[in-house]
Amino acid sequence: MAPRKLAAGNWKMNGDRAALAQIDALAAAQPAPGCDVLICPPATLIQPMAARAAGTSIAVGGQDCHASAAGAHTGDISAAMLREAGASHVILGHSERRADHGETDAGVAAKAAAAHAAGLIAIICLGETEAQRDAGETLAVIGAQLAGSLPPGAGAANTVIAYEPVWAIGTGRTPGIDQIAEVHRFLRAGLQGRVKDAADMALLYGGSVKPGNAAEIFAIADVDGALVGGASLKAEDFGGIIAAL
Ligand code: PGA
Repeated sequence: MAPRKLAAGNWKMNGDRAALAQIDALAAAQPAPGCDVLICPPATLIQPMAARAAGTSIAVGGQDCHASAAGAHTGDISAAMLREAGASHVILGHSERRADHGETDAGVAAKAAAAHAAGLIAIICLGETEAQRDAGETLAVIGAQLAGSLPPGAGAANTVIAYEPVWAIGTGRTPGIDQIAEVHRFLRAGLQGRVKDAADMALLYGGSVKPGNAAEIFAIADVDGALVGGASLKAEDFGGIIAAL
């Protein structure tokens, strides 16, 4: 069984209730069979977005969760709270959270385990910095992040991996086709032996994906979709990416 394809939008700290109108525009553009569409808005919009997306094929996700089920963690949100608000997925270990909040691989693995326990699909992000790529460390960095960020019990049904080179996020720069292919091949091989259904786990590419480059990125072996930041904020752009799946 091939992985299902996924176009996942990461709104980051953008969007308001007026932006929920995008759901109506995206719902009109039906994804191809075997393809899923997900939007991860700020936490305050998850519930109203899920309500607006009810009855469409658009799924809604969070951008982070806490590793604990409940407790004295001011400002945090548990995986079960995301689920109750209508989320089916949660992005974990995004490089902005790794940089801004000091998230570690072990912390990401703990959050992913909490997400799984709450019935959420964890989208685990990893990627090298520009300095690491220039130093020839890309595969070593990715390998360590993969080994450290995957919780026990991860499998194709509850986990998606997103390869996002830090230097490609929001910059308009993307790696070459061969560079993306090399990392995705490496990820697929790295999953063998670690999870029982490695061939079925969706591997996303993220970093400056746009309607204009989506088709050639999706044509790369072992690329099963994209995690999209800036271009997911406009229904027209995100619709173009969904159409390329
Ligand atoms: P970008 O962001 O598409 O704006 O480069 C991707 C991401 O951070 O997930």
